[in-house]
Amino acid sequence: MKKQDCASCGAQNGMQHFEARAFTVDFKQLNRAIRDLSGWQCQVCDEIEFDPQSAVRYSQAGDQLIEDSKRVMADEMKRIRRKLHFTQKTAVQLLSGGGHNAFSRYERAEIEPPKPLFILMRLLDRHPELVNDLLEISKGADMSHLLAAKELERQTAQGC
Ligand SMILES: [Zn+2]
Repeated sequence: MKKQDCASCGAQNGMQHFEARAFTVDFKQLNRAIRDLSGWQCQVCDEIEFDPQSAVRYSQAGDQLIEDSKRVMADEMKRIRRKLHFTQKTAVQLLSGGGHNAFSRYERAEIEPPKPLFILMRLLDRHPELVNDLLEISKGADMSHLLAAKELERQTAQGC
């Protein structure tokens, strides 16, 4: 069996060569397997050093996963917005706030949607009937009531 010293922890003959092993690249909660990689692994500290060709494939797969993931998120943002019958402008007003072109940028994969917004979109995808609640919430009647109550509370306190 081929062995060499570990460049990371210095263990003598600590690294053993491996071939045809599969590894996973991750991005957020997404991942993808890359097969047939070869390289060295330290038996002491677990450090992995891929052979040159495998190193290139591993790093390209990582970049590709990030690019694909961003594209998939962007496409989901667009698909769900259309399913809910929102224009980009309405979606900004109701859901995201921020710049008027925020959704356009999410949908072109220019920037990633903030995690809470992406989760909200996916929840609305599963429960589109919640759009009715969303519209009611955005009118803010309940908040106005709370605000009025707060004012009353303050006036009463001052009156004492
Ligand atoms: Zn090591």
